[in-house]
Amino acid sequence: MGQILRALIVEDSEDDTELLVLELEQQGYDPIYERVDTAKAMQAALDRATWDVIICDYSMPQFSAPAALALLQSRGLDIPFIIVSGTIGEDIAVAAMKAGAHDYLIKGNLVRLVPAIARELREAQERQARRAAQQALRENEERFRSLIENALDLIVVLAIDGTIQYTSPSSKTLFGYEPEAIAATNIFKYLHPEDISHVRQTFQNVIAQPGVTATAEFRCHHQDGSWRLLEASGKHFVEPSGTTRIIVNARDSTERRQAEEMRKALETEKELSELRSRFYSMMSHEFRSPLTAIQMTAQLMRDHSQAFEVNKQKECFQRILNATKRLGHLVDDVLVIGKAESGKFQVAPVPLDLSAFCQELITEFQLTSGKEHQIVFSYEGDGSDVAIDEEILRHVLSNLLANAIKYSPANTKIQFELQQKRDVAIIQVQDQGMGIPPEDLPHLFEPFHRASNVDRIPGTGLGLAIAKKFTELQGGIITATSELGVGTNFIVTLPLQAQL
Ligand code: ADP
Repeated sequence: MGQILRALIVEDSEDDTELLVLELEQQGYDPIYERVDTAKAMQAALDRATWDVIICDYSMPQFSAPAALALLQSRGLDIPFIIVSGTIGEDIAVAAMKAGAHDYLIKGNLVRLVPAIARELREAQERQARRAAQQALRENEERFRSLIENALDLIVVLAIDGTIQYTSPSSKTLFGYEPEAIAATNIFKYLHPEDISHVRQTFQNVIAQPGVTATAEFRCHHQDGSWRLLEASGKHFVEPSGTTRIIVNARDSTERRQAEEMRKALETEKELSELRSRFYSMMSHEFRSPLTAIQMTAQLMRDHSQAFEVNKQKECFQRILNATKRLGHLVDDVLVIGKAESGKFQVAPVPLDLSAFCQELITEFQLTSGKEHQIVFSYEGDGSDVAIDEEILRHVLSNLLANAIKYSPANTKIQFELQQKRDVAIIQVQDQGMGIPPEDLPHLFEPFHRASNVDRIPGTGLGLAIAKKFTELQGGIITATSELGVGTNFIVTLPLQAQL
């Protein structure tokens, strides 16, 4: 079986048609054909079926090749049209080719017929493929154009000097400018003077690095005189002509930024109000209990002092002194945190033997508040002096030790580990105490925050906030890990300068 060929033969002679068909069959085709010899019949054949080729006699009693060709063209069909005729003049043949016929052959010499059909089929196929590709391209372009034209974002194409080559219609909604009004002007003209330099820098980076998408945020002028905050990303691309362009996609982030600022302000406000409420609850307890103690002891002494023995009197005075001391500490802590938060603290590093300093501090604690605990010190390092603010460090470590003692039962161990490396000191204070509930851990260093399990253990929630501020003043960090009922570990990491 040969290759099927659907051929419409426009020919008045049946014999000639048979000859043609024979020729096609001999050359390997399996033609499905129809013979027509009038315009009406050709029209009907074109309506009824699709054809691979039209083979047309030049002149017929009721029809002609030019008329058939015109009919074909009027229908916008691209079917190879080959004239096979008795002798026709060269000028007529040329005119027919010019009119759109694909080839012409003489009836007596049909050797070229099959190669001509094969060539024309191939070319018609190529034309068809090209048309499909162009159509797809057009549709694609149309799709992108419509995306760009309807995008809420602003799309701008710039020359490398910043001249606007194209702006999407959203320039009107975003900046009040019609695209035509700003076409061919320079984009930098619309930028806030303070933003020009960093945008220029980004712009140069984009030009220098094809393929890299750079982003920038800047203020842009609105036609109504206001400034709008834009978030933009830009990319370098080369047009088919070889010209470099920058394509920028920008969106108005003014409202998003305002909403963000509002959210932050609300959060700060919320934090402040939480802080205030923690402060008041701390005040009411921590200030009130020593005040009540003072008031009650003083009343007792006023009303019954004659009846008191000396020892009882001394005890009363001591109680008053303890309460005032506690109040004094409290006031100090509040003042310290206020000062540290306002950045008024000056760090004054002095040469210090860190290991000896820690051991002395531990001894002080063992002799006073830490009598019921065993504080185990370990040291790793070369023992060289470092430059550190002694007072600040004392404050931080005292607080950690005092807490370890306060929040762990008597007769438990407290590990105090110091690792001194060349440029960093890591100090760990680890106890075997009550631990901290996981939900309190993130808030531990906030002023006045006390964990939910402190029960009646006295405290203000200020010590760790101060310790954190002080550690940070020296460029260090403080962290805590804890497990309920197992213990807590505080780690202070301090950068070290060599001795001054
Ligand atoms: P306070 O005066 O309440 O001890 P801090 O700021 O020193 O204030 O500590 C804040 C809170 O952290 C404490 O109230 C307590 O809930 C918790 N905490 C601190 N250290 C420890 C520890 N070693 N073990 C258990 N809880 C601790």
